Amino acid sequence: MNLNLYGHAGQWLMVDCGVTFNSPLSAQYSTVDGTPNAEVLAADPTFISQQKENLCGIVITHAHEDHIGALPQLWQRFNCPVYTTPFTAEVLRRKLSGLGLADKVPVIEVLSGATINIGPFCLHWLAITHSIPDPHALVIKTLAGTVFHTADWKIDASPITGRAFKSTIFKRLAQHNITAMVCDSTNALREGFSLSEADCHNALLQVVKAASGRVVVTGFSSNVGRLISLARIAAQTGRYLALLGRSLDNMVGVARATGYWPDELTVVDASHIGYLPKEEVLVIATGSQGEPRAALSRLADDNHPLLLLEQGDLVVFSSIIIPGNEMLISRLVEKFNARNIQTLQSHDTELPIHVSGHPNRGELDLLYRWVQPQIAVPVHGEAAHLAANADVAKAAGVPQQLTGLNGDLFVLAPVPRLWPGFVKAGRIALVR
Ligand SMILES: [Zn+2]
Ligand SMILES: [Zn+2]
Repeated sequence: MNLNLYGHAGQWLMVDCGVTFNSPLSAQYSTVDGTPNAEVLAADPTFISQQKENLCGIVITHAHEDHIGALPQLWQRFNCPVYTTPFTAEVLRRKLSGLGLADKVPVIEVLSGATINIGPFCLHWLAITHSIPDPHALVIKTLAGTVFHTADWKIDASPITGRAFKSTIFKRLAQHNITAMVCDSTNALREGFSLSEADCHNALLQVVKAASGRVVVTGFSSNVGRLISLARIAAQTGRYLALLGRSLDNMVGVARATGYWPDELTVVDASHIGYLPKEEVLVIATGSQGEPRAALSRLADDNHPLLLLEQGDLVVFSSIIIPGNEMLISRLVEKFNARNIQTLQSHDTELPIHVSGHPNRGELDLLYRWVQPQIAVPVHGEAAHLAANADVAKAAGVPQQLTGLNGDLFVLAPVPRLWPGFVKAGRIALVR
């Protein structure tokens, strides 16, 4: 549930406003710091909502729920313009219209590569690669110093959607005297380099090619590159592609509306899929985390209105197990296996049927060496990930690393230091 605030000259800039999900079976998040055991949580925004006249803008880096999910419900507390790029803007507009806020919230569409002044901040949008279309890093310039905010990223030479990662863009930053690089730590404990979406396409192609019955693939709906890969695989293997689940329909709708969905890739109406020969069926279904109301759970319980699976069919998890969801997912797998429906999870195979959207240590090292910031500020991870990211920064020659906890303030200039507990690091429950 990312929510960053940058302060300069009495003004604040918000970058991202996300949620985190509480798994129904997870003990991990329940009633932490007295928070109700709600399904959806956001960072407590009291610090900034009490002085919203000093908030000059909100920027959303990309459309993942942990970066955008809380904004529709919290916006009225901030009441200021939202700046983001076209795919993310389309996702946001659909969320806002669901809440009747479409005409109230000023969403300012920014083109990739643009430079815009927001209050005392001069922002430059840099396209990067991740696991959703249209991810952007930000260069935030002020009279006191310049921040490079990476947001979520990886180095992907063939990301399926959007342009390949371009190192020259980031090498150029070294000439801009970057005061601090605020950087994604999610995979800082993993050695080497992440694999590309194209590697995942090839792995899934092999799996689908070898299957003789129906294939159901589950994963994250917002990974449009993965959805496009599966649509291509359907065409390559003589299958029809159908989508089961509202969030998949929504994401493909957004991708079509913003030009990310290739026109030649067809999706058949899900109501037809039950009538097709089994070897001609490829389905993408929501519910990779075992969510009880999602399509995959209904398939496991054999009560989906449009499709009944049978012996010899295959269910592929093109996803990770988010910590806390182990029980829900293993119950699902057991239900399929009990009916002789095969399942394939990442840990069952050497093939990369899922790839991460975050940088491994090799990628972190390269970006630090290219950008050459004065300070590294690792974010987006548990304490161990932040510490590992700081170690990579140090080894890459970054003179200073600042790691902290939620609610801490990092003073970046003129004298860098950590100010612990600057704001209350609480969580609030959102009703959905
Ligand atoms: Zn994220
Ligand atoms: Zn993300």
